[in-house]
Amino acid sequence: MLYLYDTATQEVRPLAMRQPGHVSIYLCGPTVYGPPHLGHGRATLVYDILRRYLTWTGIQVRLVSNITDIDDKIIDRANKENRPWSEITHKCEKIWFEAMVALNVEKPTDIPRATDYVDQMVAMIGELILRDGAYVTSDGVYMSVTSVSDYGLLAHQKIEDMLAGGGDREVFGAGEKKHPADFALWKFTKPGEPAWPSPWGEGRPGWHTECVVMSLQLLGEGFDLHCGGADLRFPHHENERAQAAALGKRFANHWMHNGFVVDAEGEKMSKSLGNVANLIDLVQHYDPRSYRMLLLQTHYRSPVRVGQDNIDASVKAVTSIDGFFARLGELANASPPDEATLLAFRSAMDDDLDTPGATAVMFDAIRRANTAVDAGDNATAGALAHAAREMCTAFGLVVNAFAAVSDDIAQKASLIDEARASKDFATADSLRNELQAAGYVVETTKEGTRVRRG
Ligand SMILES: [Zn+2]
Repeated sequence: MLYLYDTATQEVRPLAMRQPGHVSIYLCGPTVYGPPHLGHGRATLVYDILRRYLTWTGIQVRLVSNITDIDDKIIDRANKENRPWSEITHKCEKIWFEAMVALNVEKPTDIPRATDYVDQMVAMIGELILRDGAYVTSDGVYMSVTSVSDYGLLAHQKIEDMLAGGGDREVFGAGEKKHPADFALWKFTKPGEPAWPSPWGEGRPGWHTECVVMSLQLLGEGFDLHCGGADLRFPHHENERAQAAALGKRFANHWMHNGFVVDAEGEKMSKSLGNVANLIDLVQHYDPRSYRMLLLQTHYRSPVRVGQDNIDASVKAVTSIDGFFARLGELANASPPDEATLLAFRSAMDDDLDTPGATAVMFDAIRRANTAVDAGDNATAGALAHAAREMCTAFGLVVNAFAAVSDDIAQKASLIDEARASKDFATADSLRNELQAAGYVVETTKEGTRVRRG
């Protein structure tokens, strides 16, 4: 039984399943207007680990994760660059899924796009107005937060104590709002902006309306788990929940939020990681498995610092796992997994997804397997190695057997190091692109550039 901290009740409690053996999860997906940052990567990896673990234990997971393909930020960029907004969203969505493939994040079972659900959003807003939960102003339709008796439940703040608006998205329409925390459900559009018809005037939905409609539409009332980054707890998730509450609908049964990605002492990521400014840079310059490893070794609710030192350490850790299986992979096939190790693993994972504890169990099994094989005890080594392989599967950690590369490829890798040493990043990048195009994985390590077959 998996126990998870519930942000709403502020306690660790069992993840109840509406339908036994099946878990329904909604994860707020990306707003596609620019390159994904490391925080986006963390959220998808944390919930990918959760999903893979649940699947590994025999539970069927339905994971709905949306694409926000209409938003002020998308419109701003389209106007600034004088491009059609859909061109930006299509391109950014493609980049997003390429990064997800590189990170080995499994595709959600459902990927609703906000623009495909506008009719349902309009219908829901109409119902909120009928129930006196929303009102029309000169620039849109607003949710009245005072109509929801327990507004602030997720934020754990009283409505009076909340900051006016609570975020730049809420400043919109500040003048006519009845309460500073009221938020836009529908925004009337200006000429030239994307617009959909509604009984109140042409416009577009607000972000909080998108997720509540898509989650209820696809997963139904009382779905099991709603998750996302800690920054979404308020106002986004609070406002999703408020709409469902005002409609008299049961919403998520359990709320899960992962911690932030932070810089070391105010250092910007771009500085602390050389040429890494976002998620795309990270997966291009390092073994993408290193980010998953770093997050496995951090509790999902704690902040994580992504720096050169701990990325290097994570690259080393995944490389050591590769080396281990290159040595003991055959033995793992020959023995059933060590049950005591898997029990210890499950008890760590079931305890609010204690991945640092579970990862320690895995590395301990690897250490003991190495000792056993050195002592000639192949049966023990095989059982431990088999257990370690099971844990890799449950973590979504791919194990690579390193293949040797030819001399001219190795030569190109050393040219990359030379170019980087002389700060000729353009040459280093073009060599790296050349190798990647030829199907090689190019990793930056402390010892220099390492190239292997993808
Ligand atoms: Zn959302």
